[in-house]
Amino acid sequence: MRNNHAHVSKYMHRLLAALTLCLLSASPVIAQSQTSGSLPHVTVLATGGTIAGTAGSETQTTGYKPGVLTADALLKSVPSLGKIAQVSGEQISNVGSENITNDVLLKLAKRVNQLLAQPDIAGVVVTHGTDTLEETAYFLNLVVKSDKPVVVTGSMRPSTAISADGPSNLLQAMTVAASPEARGRGVMIVLNDRIGSARYTTKTNGTTLDTFKGNDAGYLGTLVDEVPHFETSTLKLHTTSTPFDVSRLDSLPEVDIVYGYQNDGGFMYDAAVAHGAKGIVVAGVGAGSESLLTLPSIKKAIAQGVIVARSSRTGGGFVPEDPAYVGLLGDDLNPQKARILLMLALTVTKDPSRIQEIFHQF
Ligand code: GLU
Repeated sequence: MRNNHAHVSKYMHRLLAALTLCLLSASPVIAQSQTSGSLPHVTVLATGGTIAGTAGSETQTTGYKPGVLTADALLKSVPSLGKIAQVSGEQISNVGSENITNDVLLKLAKRVNQLLAQPDIAGVVVTHGTDTLEETAYFLNLVVKSDKPVVVTGSMRPSTAISADGPSNLLQAMTVAASPEARGRGVMIVLNDRIGSARYTTKTNGTTLDTFKGNDAGYLGTLVDEVPHFETSTLKLHTTSTPFDVSRLDSLPEVDIVYGYQNDGGFMYDAAVAHGAKGIVVAGVGAGSESLLTLPSIKKAIAQGVIVARSSRTGGGFVPEDPAYVGLLGDDLNPQKARILLMLALTVTKDPSRIQEIFHQF
């Protein structure tokens, strides 16, 4: 009997301990939802893409319609967002990101700057199609005038897919945007547990979840259980340290990209100039090499005042000085990011040597 009593009291003791542990571990969530008024305010600016896309079946992950769900529907699909921040949403556009134009970029950037100038806004999340996400993120990295976090996210699987990655990516982006630790790091790209710098992060695969990579620069950090762990920061200047001011811009100068390949010709350069290009980015072979077939047209473009910058079609590496080729050096920017920078550079100067400095600074 005594033994029995001891056994029961030991059991009760364990039960009480387990209950206490349970209550303690649940309390942060209860506290968060009860004190949502004191949580940071983060605005989601939705632009479309797969994250807002729907397909005909849960197994369909290509060939679906991007940009269907509204900002409101996106936010409602992830109730946990309310535990991290006071969340509001706005629709900037609702398109696949192949249809993001310079006009959308300017509209988005101006709205981000307006929001971040408000003392009650802690950060901004932008939802975006993944195909050109890195271009928008890098554009914002160059024109946002605030240290507050701006995080761009998207998804590789539509909202209707089994294991859709949109909800988790949105929650992680919100976590980073609401985090004081994320301030001053430039615009970030958050998908698939990774926090990347907009300067370096690029889409490396057309269909897989782990497509966004930082190549030589790696990642800024990782998310584990909705906690951001920052490990590095970029040395390139961004946001408040750039000379670019979108508030006085209604359009951006035309900059086109011409891809290098065997047996290519100068006609693509001629066409870009005839179309009104103020800048041309060469997506050159190797470390930005230009063929003998294209050089006469590239030289003609430069003689007419068009700024030409060399980049590499390989997806990585710096472009070195080489007397065999002409044009500015695009640092280690991929062609699509070099185009974004050249458009902005042309809004502040036409001087090739100043633009060359800009390529190395940002
Ligand atoms: N092409 C679409 C877009 O970029 C879908 C790709 C995606 O979002 O993953 O919006």
